[in-house]
Amino acid sequence: MLLHDSMIHACQARKLMAAGDEASLRYAALEIRMAIELLFYKLIPSYRDELPDDILKQWQPKKIIDAIIDCDPYAEQNSTLTMAVELPNGGHGPAIRVGRYKAVNRKLLRNYYHKIGSYLHAAMVEGHRDLTRMLSFLDAAAARVEECCRETTVISNFGKFHTLQCVCGRKIKRNDHAVQLKPYVRCPNDKCQAVHDLIKNDDDGTKWKLRESEFVCPECKTSSYFGSHLIDTGKNFTCVECSQKYIFRTGLFVSRVEEPASR
Ligand SMILES: [Zn+2]
Ligand SMILES: [Zn+2]
Repeated sequence: MLLHDSMIHACQARKLMAAGDEASLRYAALEIRMAIELLFYKLIPSYRDELPDDILKQWQPKKIIDAIIDCDPYAEQNSTLTMAVELPNGGHGPAIRVGRYKAVNRKLLRNYYHKIGSYLHAAMVEGHRDLTRMLSFLDAAAARVEECCRETTVISNFGKFHTLQCVCGRKIKRNDHAVQLKPYVRCPNDKCQAVHDLIKNDDDGTKWKLRESEFVCPECKTSSYFGSHLIDTGKNFTCVECSQKYIFRTGLFVSRVEEPASR
């Protein structure tokens, strides 16, 4: 079973739920929480080239699924993967079903993962917990996890991809669906974070431009261009033409909007 690790935790939760006392149900909630986290972690290898490098520091499933949706807007949909041999005439041979994917999504997090947290904290008001209600909730959460585990036989990330070379040397890979929604890409290298804007997307491919800002030196009137990701208060630079030293200052600038005079 592909999602074996999650299933183990769901089975463990079921055993604890069968005991039925409050402490056992609390531990069952913990097992289900781990099962759900593992469902989300399992997606990471398929998106490794596209996800920010520091994603592994983000242990929260919500951050992981948000980052994955950013790479693939259809990541929350159930899917079936079929493959066929391409024939010389451009057609294809008989399709073979490779596997299917029961999606984990933000709804799963909303309906189960975030609510489970409330069972893992001490009650703020005195009184006994409603164990029947707790058991019924855990049963539904375990069933959702088991459904994912049973029905997912493959996790894939196929699509039309664009690649570009970042200024840091990193090769950036971007799904075309993501490009259609957001015509820019941020370098996944957390030490770089350069932003590239899409300026052309047609049959000949895509063309990207590093997002830059122009600075005209007041001393010699020479233009310098800086990657916008490098501009930060306190950073120094020197004019390439006249060697005048400068320091960046960033801030919030607003202007009054003048209403047209009423007649
Ligand atoms: Zn980069
Ligand atoms: Zn200058």
